[in-house]
Amino acid sequence: MIDFNRPPYVGKELEYIEEAVRENKICGDGAFTKKCSAWMEQELHTKYSLLTTSCTHALEMASYLADIQPGDEVIMPSYTFVSTADAFVLRGARIVFVDVHPETMNIDERLIEDAITDKTRAIVPVHYAGVSCEMDTILNIAERYGLKVIEDAAQGVHAYYKGKALGTLGDFGCFSFHETKNYTMGEGGALLFQEDKYLEKAEVLREKGTDRSKFFRGQVDKYTWVDFGSSYLPSELNAAYLCAQLEACAEIDHKRMDIWNYYHDNLKPLAEAGYIVRPEVPEYAVHNAHMYYIKVKDLETRTRLIAFLRERQICSVFHYIPLHSSKAGKKFGRFHGDDIYTTKESERLMRLPMYYSLTLEEAAYVVASIREFPDFRL
Ligand SMILES: *Cc1c(COP(=O)(O)O)cnc(C)c1O
Repeated sequence: MIDFNRPPYVGKELEYIEEAVRENKICGDGAFTKKCSAWMEQELHTKYSLLTTSCTHALEMASYLADIQPGDEVIMPSYTFVSTADAFVLRGARIVFVDVHPETMNIDERLIEDAITDKTRAIVPVHYAGVSCEMDTILNIAERYGLKVIEDAAQGVHAYYKGKALGTLGDFGCFSFHETKNYTMGEGGALLFQEDKYLEKAEVLREKGTDRSKFFRGQVDKYTWVDFGSSYLPSELNAAYLCAQLEACAEIDHKRMDIWNYYHDNLKPLAEAGYIVRPEVPEYAVHNAHMYYIKVKDLETRTRLIAFLRERQICSVFHYIPLHSSKAGKKFGRFHGDDIYTTKESERLMRLPMYYSLTLEEAAYVVASIREFPDFRL
C-alpha cells in the first residue's frame, strides 16, 4: 500500500530524544526548543518565534494577542482547516468567508476590501499547499483599514513570498509541525512575530499566565501569576524530534521537491488533454512542495478515481469541505459575495501521496495508475 502520508524520519531523532532524557530535561523550553527557535530566527529571519503545542494553539495565541473581542469580524477563506476559524470563534469573533482563486485555492485578495465592515479587525490569509497568498495587496488593505494580519502558514514553513519567509510578513505567523507537515514533532507548531511589544504578553500567555520566561532569563527573582494564560509550550521530547528535522531541512526539501516535480512533469500530458488541472505557482511565490494535488472534472469523477487508485493500493485523499457549509460555519460565520470557486473547486481536488520517504518509483507507479483511469484516454 502506498500511504498518503508518513511522518518524516531523517535519522537523528531518537538520538536527540535520548539526549533530552539523559540530560534530565524533558519539560518545555530546554536546549532543543531553543535550537528550533534559533533555526527559525536564522533561516527564516523572524525576530521572534515561540514553539507551541500546535498550529491551532499558535492561532489561538495570535487571536488573543491581536485583541480580538466578541462581535469582531475576521476575514478568511472558507477553504481551510477548522482551526483557522476556531481560534477566532473562541474569542467570540464572527467569521467572514470570501472566495478563493481557483489557480491556488488561496484567498482572492481582490474580494477582501468589499467584505470589510466597521467591525472587521483582522485578515487571515492561508498559504494553501505552501504557495503564498498575494501578500502585498493584503498588507496594503490591512494598513489602510488598521487591521491585523495573521498568516496561517501551517503548510508554508520554509516557503517564500518575494524573498520573505511565509509567517514573517503579517503581524503574526502560525506554523504547524504536525506529522502531516513537511517538518514534524508529532504534534506542534510555532508562533512568529516581529514586534517587541508582543513578546512579554506572548510569553505570559504561553506560560500559564506567569512571568516564568523572564525568571529563566534572570530578569525577575521569582515568578508569579501576572495575567491570564494557558500552557502552550511543547515538551523537549517533541522539540528534540523537530530539531533533527530542521537540521536536515535541505534534505527533506530536496526529496519533496523531486516528488513534486516528478508528478508535475509526468502529469502534463493529462493536463494538456484537458482531463486534469495541475496546481499553479505564481511568479512571486517559492513553494515548499508541501502538497501535490490535481483537479478532475467533478465530484463524481473524483470519487471514482480515488476508488480506482485504492484498488491499486494507492491512497489519495480529498481535502477541506468548505467551512461555510458546515454546521459550525453557518453558526459562527457567513460567506460574503458569491461562492463561485470555493465549493466547486474543492469538490474536484484530490491530493496524491507526498512524503519524505516516498520513492520516485512509487511516484511513477502513482502516475502510471492515474493514466490507466478509463476516463483518461490519451
Ligand atoms: C495543519 C493545519 C492546521 C492545524 O495544525 P495543527 O498543528 O494540527 O494544529 C491549521 N491550518 C492549516 C491550513 C493546516 O494545514
